[in-house]
Amino acid sequence: MKIKSNADALVIFSGGQDSTTCLLQAIADYGRENVEAISFYYGQRHAIELERAKWIADDLGIKLTIIDTSVIKQVTNNALMDESQTIKSENKYPNTFVDGRNALFLLLAGSYAKSQGITEIIIGVCETDFSGYPDCRDQFIKSMNTTMNLAMDYPFRIKTPLMWLTKAETWALADKLGYLDYIKVHTHTCYYGVLGGCGKCPSCLLREKGLSDYLAKKASG
Ligand code: ZN
Repeated sequence: MKIKSNADALVIFSGGQDSTTCLLQAIADYGRENVEAISFYYGQRHAIELERAKWIADDLGIKLTIIDTSVIKQVTNNALMDESQTIKSENKYPNTFVDGRNALFLLLAGSYAKSQGITEIIIGVCETDFSGYPDCRDQFIKSMNTTMNLAMDYPFRIKTPLMWLTKAETWALADKLGYLDYIKVHTHTCYYGVLGGCGKCPSCLLREKGLSDYLAKKASG
């Protein structure tokens, strides 16, 4: 009989709304003791994002591993990491897009997961109503899953519970899990690193519109 000594699932966790919803869903699906989280530091505008991740993981009693991937700053530059740049989205992709980020995160998460005997990797990417980042698309995730299985000869299963949800539906999921207020208060999503949200950046606007859409729908029954 296989003696179970490891977690079942590893959640890629940023302390934001989406990954916190994924973490709570994973706790509901696998049990708290069978879930771990992994966060990546890569020179985000403010350390607040990582601080939120640490606080939430600690609060939920989840083991969190933090990996320094700031090497990415040596090869690419964008508004999410460089405070002198203004966040805008007038080109094909918003200038908050970090080339190769999710590929790097998934690869490192895979190396770590395999070392812990974990096969399920959960990531809160979504192609429904976010900015159209190429590495948030279902096709990329499926391709990366195949690549990682081949690269490490290991049966990873990358799960994307939010892939086809709108922001309003992600709030609905948080509510169903019993954590709507928790996510509203404790998660951090603002591109400018304003605690509680700046209310103006694309990330804050999307988050707030999703919440008001969901609450309006809920109120109308
Ligand atoms: Zn903001």
